[in-house]
Amino acid sequence: MPHVVTDNCQRCRFTDCVTHCPVQCFHADDERVYIDPEVCIDCSACVPICPVQAIYDSLDLPDAYAHELVINAQRSHLLPVISAHLPPLPTAESRRAELGL
Ligand code: SF4
Ligand code: SF4
Repeated sequence: MPHVVTDNCQRCRFTDCVTHCPVQCFHADDERVYIDPEVCIDCSACVPICPVQAIYDSLDLPDAYAHELVINAQRSHLLPVISAHLPPLPTAESRRAELGL
């Protein structure tokens, strides 16, 4: 089962995760990233890296985020791969504070 990005990433997009992924399965839009479930090898390297705890193994995905399985699959196939670190979005620190992290 693949790993999944949740909307904790929304308005953060710190992109620490993408530089730790060995198979380049992250895709990004202007607000967050998504994991391609067909490419993810379930190594879990990205999970502890995310400063806003946005990434889950789908086996551990809370029910509140179940819809993210479809969102990650659909959006990742429409967006370019991101494998290099980008500056966090200007809203990243306020979003992290909003999440209590
Ligand atoms: S490290 Fe977390 S917040 Fe940053 S892009 Fe990855 S999932 Fe989003
Ligand atoms: S679990 Fe591994 S392969 Fe999957 S997105 Fe995270 S770092 Fe990439």
